[in-house]
Amino acid sequence: MNFDIKKIRKDFPALHQEIYGKPLVYLDNAATTLKPQVVIDSITNYYSTINSNVHRGVHYLSQQATEEFENTRENIRKYINARNTHEIIFTKGTTESINLMAYSFGKKFLSQGDEVIISELEHHANIVPWQMICEEKRAKLKVIPINNNGELILEKFKDLITKKTKIVSVSHISNALGTVNPIKAIIDIAHQHDIPVMIDGAQGIVHEKIDVQELDCDFYCFSSHKMYGPMGVGILFGKEEYLEEMPPYQTGGEMIKTVTFEKTTFNELPFKFETGTPNVADVIGFGSAIDYIKKIGIENIIRYEEELLKYATQMLCGIQGLRIYGEAKKKAGVISFLLKDIHPYDAGIIIDKLSIAVRTGQHCAQPVMDRFGIPGTIRASFAFYNTKEEVDKLVEAILKVQEMFN
Ligand code: PMP
Repeated sequence: MNFDIKKIRKDFPALHQEIYGKPLVYLDNAATTLKPQVVIDSITNYYSTINSNVHRGVHYLSQQATEEFENTRENIRKYINARNTHEIIFTKGTTESINLMAYSFGKKFLSQGDEVIISELEHHANIVPWQMICEEKRAKLKVIPINNNGELILEKFKDLITKKTKIVSVSHISNALGTVNPIKAIIDIAHQHDIPVMIDGAQGIVHEKIDVQELDCDFYCFSSHKMYGPMGVGILFGKEEYLEEMPPYQTGGEMIKTVTFEKTTFNELPFKFETGTPNVADVIGFGSAIDYIKKIGIENIIRYEEELLKYATQMLCGIQGLRIYGEAKKKAGVISFLLKDIHPYDAGIIIDKLSIAVRTGQHCAQPVMDRFGIPGTIRASFAFYNTKEEVDKLVEAILKVQEMFN
């Protein structure tokens, strides 16, 4: 299909509002993306008609709810090319997926003296859960450093691996700098030592085509709300052989097979990891978001976004006194920058008043900011509904900020 940007923008109602009397320019897509009307309709439809719980009732609506819920699981399985639907676990989001991993995988496979490897580029969600479980198990957290361009240093990664390394958990794309990490190489290196790899794909799956079998990653997680779907839903993909071995993360209804006061036996995958009433409406909404992405075509999205990022990088590089943080050879979706002598927060406030939504601060990645010795950055992050005209407006806004501070 042709990539018709005008038509695409019509699909996103939130794009067509004015903020402070001017059309919104939304460049905070790494935080969350806007939702197309089909996703909003799908959630409304669920509550207007089906509105039933899953896996429980024999009544018509409950069966419909279960069917749509499980169809979405299959839709996601296909989208990332997992082998089985029971390798697809619904969570609240990436953060919960990583907590599930740290707690459950950690409980089963980590002991005193073992090691977990993450990287300096991680979002706090892929640091703190591992730090906590390592503390509890008296295991060691090791960190792959980055170079001045914001790229992982693979040679250092190789040096960190020992016989005690039990898991590697790294992001696919950095939300703070936009670096696309060489995850295939990381997975291959780790597998040479029989170490499983978890990929935090919160940003990765938005800007790249994911095939978990081709990647051969052992775990991959992501959030619906960064993929044009609703908030409150995420996925943990895990290889069956690991998930089978891992204990439940939370307990209660749904995740059980039998319960007596003496003993409880657990349900099969994926339900062993899905306790309580799930977020049915938003899971179904997420299914609509995946359908929407498929309709546009991830290849078209990637091509368009690459072009837009290239243009934005060129335009921003042309501004005197602006420094971009994160100059990796392979980048996606994000430009993080600072303006000389201007605090990112001050710049953010003025940019906001010009109706442009960017994010300022540490982007939940304090170690990255510490690495560069900065308090934070201004981050413009792009989606396929953004345009070069919007980039031009950002440039104008930055010039205005500089004018006001000089
Ligand atoms: N990892 C990365 C790379 C992210 O960008 C984010 C969200 N900014 C998360 C993890 C956490 O995702 P969520 O808040 O949806 O759980």
